[in-house]
Amino acid sequence: MGNMHGTVYRNGRQIDVGYGVPTTCEQPGCTEQIDRGLAYLCGSVHGGDEYSCGGYFCGQHLYTAPEGHHGNRCVLCVDRGADPTEYSPDAMVATFN
Ligand SMILES: [Zn+2]
Ligand SMILES: [Zn+2]
Repeated sequence: MGNMHGTVYRNGRQIDVGYGVPTTCEQPGCTEQIDRGLAYLCGSVHGGDEYSCGGYFCGQHLYTAPEGHHGNRCVLCVDRGADPTEYSPDAMVATFN
């Protein structure tokens, strides 16, 4: 794909995206310098979709998408689209009494 660069609409605002666009991790409090390439994207398409916000996050704040989904997810989106009936040993909250 090379040094892809373009613009997308996200939350009604046009933003520059691509490997050559420097930005800061969008996790509040994180100052990690990253770029707006797919490697740092929450979701699989720039601008987000029904399962992801389209934000850009450093490796520390990106998680593998649920089974059957592509790309990575931020902490807020990681469980979106996952099958809630499926038991996951990695679930962060699992308290049943
Ligand atoms: Zn997200
Ligand atoms: Zn971060």
